[in-house]
Amino acid sequence: MDLGSGIPRRCDCRAATVVLTSNTARNPGRRFYRCGAISGENHVFKWLDEAHDEEFVVVANKVATMEKDLADIKADLADTKNGISEIVPLIECLRVKCYMN
Ligand SMILES: [Zn+2]
Repeated sequence: MDLGSGIPRRCDCRAATVVLTSNTARNPGRRFYRCGAISGENHVFKWLDEAHDEEFVVVANKVATMEKDLADIKADLADTKNGISEIVPLIECLRVKCYMN
């Protein structure tokens, strides 16, 4: 099973994940994500602390992408405003000529 990076929200069996707490001698009190339907080899298991460390990177990358997209949108908006400011006088000029004829 490929869990991907970050918080596992769904298992391959489509069940939502749940957070549980380990009570093993090796990992006492350590929380983990697990398939909400079945525990087993082909179902989600991931330590919560590791998932959250990965999730921070996932979210940071998404924010970086959104910041780049926003900069692109602002540049497109500025270009559009410039285009409109060039067209408006032309429309006004045409309108005046129409009234004169
Ligand atoms: Zn499952």
